Amino acid sequence: KKRLLKDLRGKANITLDGKEIKLYANIGNSKDLAMVLQNDAAGIGLFRSEFIYLEKKEYPTEEEQFTIYKTVAQTMAGKKVIIRTLDIGADKQADYFKLDKEENPAMGCRAIRICLTRPEIFKTQLRALFRASAFGNIAIMYPMIISVEEVRRIREITKQVEEELNEQGIAYGLVEQGIMIETPAAVMVSEELAKEVDFFSIGTNDLTQYTLAIDRQNPQLDEFYDAHHPAVLRMIQMVIENAHKAGIWVGICGELGADAELTSTFLKMGVDELSVSPGYILPLRKIIRETDVSKL
Ligand code: PEP
Ligand code: MG
Repeated sequence: KKRLLKDLRGKANITLDGKEIKLYANIGNSKDLAMVLQNDAAGIGLFRSEFIYLEKKEYPTEEEQFTIYKTVAQTMAGKKVIIRTLDIGADKQADYFKLDKEENPAMGCRAIRICLTRPEIFKTQLRALFRASAFGNIAIMYPMIISVEEVRRIREITKQVEEELNEQGIAYGLVEQGIMIETPAAVMVSEELAKEVDFFSIGTNDLTQYTLAIDRQNPQLDEFYDAHHPAVLRMIQMVIENAHKAGIWVGICGELGADAELTSTFLKMGVDELSVSPGYILPLRKIIRETDVSKL
């Protein structure tokens, strides 16, 4: 079976009736890059940059981050590398952020909320990302978005960063900017959000948690945490429709994207990209190549 999968390296992710889809990899660390290449990912769909912060005892500097992002961009040699800005908070705490203890950390000060309230931390990461974009195909993705207003505030900050880099004569490339759709609010305003960004990536782990009101961290609730719940699947469909209506592409980067039981459903919904752990890429390619969407 291993051998068969290996034979799929270099092959397209294309259905029997000619529908092509992108298979990207999720990574948390530049050490995962070997796996990404071995499994023939067309790009990186989710680089969880918060792990850079979690590995350290103090804020990683612009230089430290730049070096990491540049290495990833260069290793991927022109393939798309989507780096998610820090998703600190909730289950991912770094002491030096000195966040207050919260009753409901999953609904607390986390991710983009930290970035918008502490723009100096955000700007350091953005500068590193923009600088690294001169060395490959980097895209930036923002987590835990709930409103158009947030996206506009982000845009203002990225504009400042670009202006500063221009003044300093520092090079950067064209950077696609997208958002994660992982809150029910983002789903419900996805029609408006789609007009503001370059792409969507659906985070089904959090989307399931917030839609079903079930803590994704609580193993006692496993039997209730049902990512196949029609509420979740209808939300995914709605997001895909709204993305396409605005002419942007949309992917899935939560665990559900790797769920073989749903691959044909996602193909039928018209999702453009699935970003999964590197080990799932070739098995999914096999399924995709054996699927005929027109017969579903
Ligand atoms: C998600 O929420 O689905 C996601 C991809 O992000 P994370 O699992 O890192 O929260
Ligand atoms: Mg998430």
